[in-house]
Amino acid sequence: MDQKKRRVRFAPSPTGPLHMGGVRTALYNYLFAKQAGGDFILRIEDTDSNRFVPGAEKYIIDSLRWCGIYPDEGVDAEGNLVSVPSERHPHAPYRQSERKPIYRKYAQQLIDAGWAYYAFDSAEELDAKRKEAEANKQTFSYNHASRNSLKNSLTLPEDEVKKLLETTDNWTIRFKNPENRTVEMDDMIRGHISMNTNTLDDKVLWKAADQLPTYHLANIVDDHLMEITHVIRGEEWLPSLPLHYLLYEAFGWADTQPRFAHLSLLLKPDGKGKLSKRDGDRLGFPVFPLRWVNAQGEVSRGYREDGYYPQAFINMLALLGWNPGTEQEIFTLEELTQLFSMEKVVKSGARFNPEKAKWFNQEYLRMRSNEQLAEEFEVLLQSFNSDRERNLTKAELTELSGLIKERAHFITDFLTICPYIFSAPTQYDEKDTRKFWTDDAKAIMPQVIARIESIDCKYTVDCPEHLPAAEAVPQIEESLTSLITENGWKMGAVMNALRLFFVGQAKGLGIADIIYYLGRKEALRRIRKAVETL
Ligand code: GLU
Repeated sequence: MDQKKRRVRFAPSPTGPLHMGGVRTALYNYLFAKQAGGDFILRIEDTDSNRFVPGAEKYIIDSLRWCGIYPDEGVDAEGNLVSVPSERHPHAPYRQSERKPIYRKYAQQLIDAGWAYYAFDSAEELDAKRKEAEANKQTFSYNHASRNSLKNSLTLPEDEVKKLLETTDNWTIRFKNPENRTVEMDDMIRGHISMNTNTLDDKVLWKAADQLPTYHLANIVDDHLMEITHVIRGEEWLPSLPLHYLLYEAFGWADTQPRFAHLSLLLKPDGKGKLSKRDGDRLGFPVFPLRWVNAQGEVSRGYREDGYYPQAFINMLALLGWNPGTEQEIFTLEELTQLFSMEKVVKSGARFNPEKAKWFNQEYLRMRSNEQLAEEFEVLLQSFNSDRERNLTKAELTELSGLIKERAHFITDFLTICPYIFSAPTQYDEKDTRKFWTDDAKAIMPQVIARIESIDCKYTVDCPEHLPAAEAVPQIEESLTSLITENGWKMGAVMNALRLFFVGQAKGLGIADIIYYLGRKEALRRIRKAVETL
């Protein structure tokens, strides 16, 4: 039995905003660690300076924090990446660019053991090789077959190698793949995998030009030094797995090497290919947790700014590629932590369904108390509807929130569901006017007005001591219905004309609800104004 404390890491490269697929990888790592009381580490893999994007690291950290995924190591309480080792952060620095001196030594260890060699071929020389191969309809690779005819420490005399190392700085250290060996690997999701080493390139591990390791070397060395027990990452890294196995062997760390799990891709809604930002732009959904503005000023929408609750986002993501094997779909982070298991992570790609994402948010919205929703609604009203004509008290907003939450996916929908409660319509839909402001409607309107005038003050918000909506609205409804039935009028004719006056079109909440929240005075004012205008 493995008694070691479970330690996992999320190791993004700061090359841009974190895709929701990346958030899912972080989430699965987090759940897997936490369910065993283990550690979740955040490490920033920034050794490729060509692809570095300013702001991306902060974006990654902010995104994880928004999702409620707090690393045990890597980031301090304020959300800064840790550079100096401390009791809580014994493996700092967690930014690979700050670990530069560590890697050279390990690259040397591989050279000394015959697992790596120096390569002096210039970019132009390699390019020429590539073109030559292409002309013969072949692909060039630096590997077991070609390395003996290239410019490296395997082919050049020792003194020349020494001279080149001392006098030039454009060389690299490459991994020396063993010839014709089968690497036997194990993946927690995919099971046993084997690969012949003759299919592998001799990858560059370290570059003298910038004195930096490449991803492969830095990643293995850091996973070892940080005592990582499980590597959970995207399937795009599966082709690197044989090299990673061989690196562990080469360093003599095979006994303690982590176990691997490669997660399948998130697929487009039609299931054809990887979910990309372009799909989101085309079909109108975010693929990033937070809004992102790139260097060209192009804006990418974020789940947060689109009004998603982080709990709903996380819940939705957890189920994209994993399911507990039951019908349950709504889980808190704690429940997910308890239930998550790598055995139930699916091998096939998980198709993203934007409608289902909205459904999750709707479920979370409905789970909120009316008081909580009223608070969020108030904030929205203040920021987006500051010139509104009317205000509701906290208690009234709470009741209204309870009424409209069934119709909303997002709290922002609250603004569009009933703007007319807060400001009178400035125009009336022409088609609805023609349809509902008929001679019949005109004839009966005086009696309708009289009936609304007769509604007791305590049944609408006009009266400071008004009754709660649950008691008052049925009274208003009863009063109007009885008027309509007594006179043998059509229900729709009256209700739609009133809706047109209150809302501006024949759509909206129930008439009795609208009258309750408008108050008797405002309801009558809107009717009189419409009658005069139309
Ligand atoms: N830096 C790699 C990435 O961007 C990490 C891959 C891994 O987890 O090993 O995805």
